[in-house]
Amino acid sequence: MPDATSSHPGPSGVGPSGLDTPETVLEVRDLKVHFPVMAGAVMRKQVGSVKAVDGVSFMVRRGETLGLVGESGCGKSTTGLAVLKMLDITSGQVVFEGQDITRHDRARMRPIRRRMQMVYQDPFGSLNPRMKVAEIVGEPLEVHSVPGGRAVHREKVAKLLDMVGLLPDMADRYPHEFSGGQRQRIGIARAMALEPSLIICDEPVSALDVSIQAQVVNLFQELQERLGLTYIFIAHDLAVVRHISHRIAVMYLGRIVEIASRAELYAKPLHPYTQALLAAIPIPDPEVEAGRPQQIITGEVPSAMRPPPGCRFHTRCPMAMHVCKTVDPPMHGLEGGRAVACHLHG
Ligand code: SF4
Repeated sequence: MPDATSSHPGPSGVGPSGLDTPETVLEVRDLKVHFPVMAGAVMRKQVGSVKAVDGVSFMVRRGETLGLVGESGCGKSTTGLAVLKMLDITSGQVVFEGQDITRHDRARMRPIRRRMQMVYQDPFGSLNPRMKVAEIVGEPLEVHSVPGGRAVHREKVAKLLDMVGLLPDMADRYPHEFSGGQRQRIGIARAMALEPSLIICDEPVSALDVSIQAQVVNLFQELQERLGLTYIFIAHDLAVVRHISHRIAVMYLGRIVEIASRAELYAKPLHPYTQALLAAIPIPDPEVEAGRPQQIITGEVPSAMRPPPGCRFHTRCPMAMHVCKTVDPPMHGLEGGRAVACHLHG
């Protein structure tokens, strides 16, 4: 797998060159998604805001997989939904295939949505139980009025099922007749129907048995190699994204705290939060597991309504210093296109 950071335009994948580089599929600049918190039974007024995403910047190049990792509630899924314009963006910029789509309304997003698709975590919940597989996979072709009519669509559905490793006669069955892994394959076939260039995979294997996870990750990888797809692969732990990601961005409380190539991140994680996430991955060899240093983080993720001052991670960081409580560490670019937000590496 190539090191996708080698000709990277900036420390966090952001830079003026990114916009006019044909290989850049997506560029996200200082993205903020804040949800208002209202109070009052009669006179409702805003009393605060949940800063779900609070200044996130990254870029993704064609054919690349960016892993987006962090604990539940860190803003990774919200980032994915904002990129797809399925949520209102508070501020910042989203540029997709050279076009600034930040303020696009539904109508202007319609042709663009064909090129950006999502695969969801829950393969059962995201498939209509009353529709046959052929209808589920073919629905985007109907909705977007893809020319050809029923016969052509049916043929296309058969090809899509074959592409994801399902048999043609499965087209006439219902989702409940399939296993979790097969249902996720149906979800992937549906996402592929409109030949997108970017697929946001929101925890696509988290709900599956460990034995099935690798098969589905391999399928994603095969499709990428065959079709030149670009992925943002969201996961809550670093074990899942290791195999598939070219680069990985680690998120904490609405911000990216470290971004690096896969090789760099796993060999030498710099941010204490990344180190803790890596330490949480069990090593199959009990001797190695027993001998490695423990980097355990305790406590809950603080509220995104009132993030801690200074470094947002200071309330849980085993290496926190005095300065961490008051000064917010900026993203610091390092050699090789990696970047980290921590006073230990400023
Ligand atoms: Fe820990 Fe301080 Fe670095 Fe934050 S800035 S991760 S609190 S050492």
